[in-house]
Parts: sequence; C-alpha cells; structure tokens
Amino acid sequence: MCGIVGYVGSNNCYPMLIKGLHRLEYRGYDSAGVAIIDKNNRINAYKSKGKVETLEHNCEDKNVEGTIGIAHTRWATHGEPSDVNAHPHLSEDGTIALVHNGTIENYSLLKEALIEQGCSFKSSTDTEVLVQLIQYIRDTNGCTLLAAVQEAMNQVVGAYAIAVIDNQISDTMIVARKSSPLVIGIADDATYIASDASPIVEYTNRVVYLNDDEIGIITRGEPLKVINVDNTPSPIDIQTLKLSVSQLEKGGYDHFMLKEIFEQPMTIGDSIRGRVVDGQVTLSGVQENKEAFRKARRIIIIGCGTSWHAGLIGRHLIQDMARIPVQVEYASEFRYSNPIINSDDIVIAVSQSGETADTLAAIQIAREKGAFVYGVCNVIGSSIARETHSGTYIHVGPEIGVASTKAFTGQVTVLTMLALAIGQLKQTVDNETIGAICEGIKQLPAFIGETLKLNDKIEKLSRIFTYAHNFLYLGRGYNYPSALEGALKLKEISYIHAEGYPAAEMKHGPIALIDRELPTVVIAPKDNLHEKIISNIQQVKARGGSVIAVVNKGDETIAALADHTIEVPSVPECLSPVIVSIPLQLLAYHIAIKKGCDVDMPRNLAKSVTVE
Ligand code: GLU
Repeated sequence: MCGIVGYVGSNNCYPMLIKGLHRLEYRGYDSAGVAIIDKNNRINAYKSKGKVETLEHNCEDKNVEGTIGIAHTRWATHGEPSDVNAHPHLSEDGTIALVHNGTIENYSLLKEALIEQGCSFKSSTDTEVLVQLIQYIRDTNGCTLLAAVQEAMNQVVGAYAIAVIDNQISDTMIVARKSSPLVIGIADDATYIASDASPIVEYTNRVVYLNDDEIGIITRGEPLKVINVDNTPSPIDIQTLKLSVSQLEKGGYDHFMLKEIFEQPMTIGDSIRGRVVDGQVTLSGVQENKEAFRKARRIIIIGCGTSWHAGLIGRHLIQDMARIPVQVEYASEFRYSNPIINSDDIVIAVSQSGETADTLAAIQIAREKGAFVYGVCNVIGSSIARETHSGTYIHVGPEIGVASTKAFTGQVTVLTMLALAIGQLKQTVDNETIGAICEGIKQLPAFIGETLKLNDKIEKLSRIFTYAHNFLYLGRGYNYPSALEGALKLKEISYIHAEGYPAAEMKHGPIALIDRELPTVVIAPKDNLHEKIISNIQQVKARGGSVIAVVNKGDETIAALADHTIEVPSVPECLSPVIVSIPLQLLAYHIAIKKGCDVDMPRNLAKSVTVE
C-alpha cells in the first residue's frame, strides 16, 4: 500500500526513482509522482493519476535533472485518485515537497487552523495539511526544516512515513516514521530511502529500518543521523539485506502470481529447512520461550485477510496437537473490542508483510496487557518482526503478486510446525504421530510439485467458468478455511463474487442460491469427514448445481458424483490445506486471466495494508 522512494547522492536521481516506483508497484496504488531539486534549487514536481508509465510519459519533455529527489505511489485514503491529490505535495510557497504513507487523523482541525492563518490548499488530501504545517512552523518560528518536522510530528495524530525536501537546504532530506514502514539504504556514494527494501537492493545491501518516532537526517556526503522526535540521538543499527534482485523479477512467467504459485515446492522447502529433523520439529522461537508456551492457558491468533485464514487452520492444528484453546480474531476487530487478555495468554500475529497496520495495533494492545506475543511473518526486519517478543519467519522470499499464494502456504506450514513444536514440548502428542506428520511435512515440496502438474487441466477447466457471476466454496474441518481462502483468491483477482462456507452450514442458507448457474467448489480430500462431505455434494447435485471437487487420487465415489474432479495427492489430514490450496490458486488465476483481469495488481487492492 503506497510506496515511497527517495535518493540523495551525486547522480541524476530520476531513473532510480522511477525504477524504484516500479519495484513498489506490487504494493498497490492509484497514482504516482516525483519531486526533484534541480541545480538552480528549484523543486520540480510531476504527478499523474494512474500507472507509473503515465507519469514517465508525462515527464518525457520535462526537467527531471537533479541529485536529490522523492517519489511516491499513492493508495488514496483522503480524496479521490487524481493528478492533484497525487504526491509529492508542495508547501504553498513551493519550497518544501513531501511524500507520505499513512493517514493524518486530525487533518481537518489542522487544516482549519492553517486556513485561518491564510493558507490555501490545492488538494483534498490529509497529506497536504502536513506539508503546509511544516512550512508554517518553519516560517513563523524561523527554525530549520528539521525543527519544523519535529514540531509537526508533535502536532499530528495518525500514522505516517514521510520524506521531505526543502529547496533552501538542497543537499538534505528529512525522513520520519510512525506506524508506517521506512527503510534507509546506505551506499558509499548515495543514500536511498523506500517503503521496503525492493527499490534499494540493487544499489546496496546495508540498510537501517527506522523505528517509530525516529527522524533520519540524510545529508549528501555526510553519515546518516537518526534522532528521536524529542531530539535525543538514536543508535543506528545497520543490517545486511538477504534479498536478491532476481527474487524481484518475473523469471520468465507472465505474472508474479503464477511465478509465486510455481515457486511453492521451493518456498515450502525453505520454510521447513533445518526445522524438521529426525522426526521432531525445532523452532528457535519455541525453544527459547519454553516457559511461555508451557504455561499458556489460551492462544489468540490475529491476522487480516489471507493471514486470518491461515490463522483458522492454525487453530485446528494447535488445538489438535497442543490441546490449548485457540481463538482467531480479525486484527481490525480485536483491537477495538476491549479484549480480555491475560499474562498467561499467547498472542500469535500472522502477517506476510509484517507491516499490517491493524495487526501492529493489536500487538501493541496485547503487549500492554502482558501477553507473550509471537510473530509469524515473511519480511525480515519488518515492524511486526521487531515488535513481537519472538517468532518464526516463513522464509518464502518476496511476494509481489497482490493475491497471496506462497505466503499463505508458508504461513500454514509454519503454523503446523509451531503446533507440533508446542505439542512436543507439552507432550500432548505422541512421538509416532509427530514422526508421521514430520515425514509428511518433508514430502510437501514434492507433493506440491506433483499438484502443479494439474496446471493445464485447470487452465482448460477455467474456460468453462468465466461466465459465472458467483461461486460457492465448501470445505469442512481443516479445509473450511481452505474454502474461505479459495473464495477470496477468486474474488480478489477475477472480481467474481465468491463465498466460502463450512459445507454443512450450506443447508442453513446458501443452499437457496444453488442452481445450474452457480458453480460450487467442494474441497473433499479423504479425511474423517469424507462421508459427510459426500452428502453435502449430493445435496448440491440434487438441486441442479454444478460441482468441481478437489479430491484425493482414486476417489471414485466423488468422481461419479461431481461434474469435474481435480485429483491431488494424499497427505496427512492436517497438511491437506497446503496441497488443496494449489489447485484453488490456479483456478482463480486462470479464470482471472480469461476474464482479462490484471492479476498482479487487482483493482483497489494493496499488497501490504499499512493504513487502518
Ligand atoms: N493519506 C494519504 C493520501 O490519501 C496517503 C495515502 C497513501 O499512503 O498512499 O493521499
């Protein structure tokens, strides 16, 4: 969601800024812009609604020279997507330019006060208020840009990552953050800033993640300085990136989503590497916090979207294996529900990006109430990784496709290992069962590889269903969340309305929808509810519905009933969500492609949801 990129150095920065915006496109956006200080100390800013290409096109005959600049992809929260509302925003006198990710909650009060002082506004964004406020403070107090930014930070309420340039000090950029991510890349001849490391990695692997309430002062030719909003110096912790440029490219696939679906044998291999050995699971986060896991009376899993679905599977896993009661909450609801949290609760926060705003806020509440907070995220060094007491990375590499695929299977795999690790510790599951599931986990990459061979068949199947306006997805037990996730994938990228339901709940309402126009995807591997789900399929067929069934190889009973079957390999029941999600991802992908949708950047969606 929104991308910030910036450069301070000695080269012309425009190409780097544009390339950086392209790298950040996957986060989701509706407009783009750039501001560069030229050699005459003038700020030239260009902004366009739509794609980065449109911005590039608009800049073709413009002055884009200069060695210090900021750029932005906007995901509108205040004010419609338009050229005027796009960032960077300039102060009224044009001396300061600012890009912002986040929301300023008290913007209307501040705006009114500034209008009373004679300021006029061009856009309807909350962001313009911030840049006008900084100019107002700088001019009325006669202070430096840094002091004005500090004072503005004291006055605004909300979430922000900002980058600010001022043509009166044209060798310096000020950056700051509160609740929205910002990374600073340090190279010998330049300093880079961005919302995540993807625009930076090809120039340097030395990065500093800014913490909340910190301000970075980047001056050409000088070492980076970081201070707190109260002016005390902050220690600079330079970290080494483990990301490579090739991980950020499509590698011959038509879309990132397809690449990421096909990467799953490798990414699940990376998730489990070194963690499943000799029939046992070793997770350092559990090893180092044995007491917290032993004494836990309850586990609360929080997440949003796909991560919430992974959390629902996690609940089954942990309850089955560790016999600890688990509740799963949407982070956005949990944070405002006056939650009852005790010091012997464990809160597990699941987030691909590690930057999800609602999940971060929920973590803060859980910490304040004394719970032990455990993170399951993908992006190394992300805010959630830093704000939690401990955790396990899913290690699936950068996920660029907006619709999550490999991160979902990585989350489920990590939650499986976590459930086993807690079960081992608490001796709530016997060694034979642990050994059998560990064996299954080790075979997952091969089984996913085999399942991916269904791609052609699913591509053909997808042609039949592009007409559909609605889909129903049904599953039971471990695979009820798989049904939710399958439906979400289809909605996200094909814009077809789809609902996931526990199969037995269908007769309490959705059955009324069934007719020959409504395809029903039934997830029905051979598990202990297999007989029951066969009855559910019969109920759909009896009403003239068409059924696409995801079954285990050789399931002739369902093959005889369903209109279409997709056969996946058999694995232990608790691992089946990982396997069945592969054909569901492929089905959503191919239907969306047939409908001509932009699967990597579906409309209105953002990859990492860094605003409330
Ligand atoms: N709230 C700001 C706006 O609507 C920033 C949105 C973003 O993070 O892209 O312009």
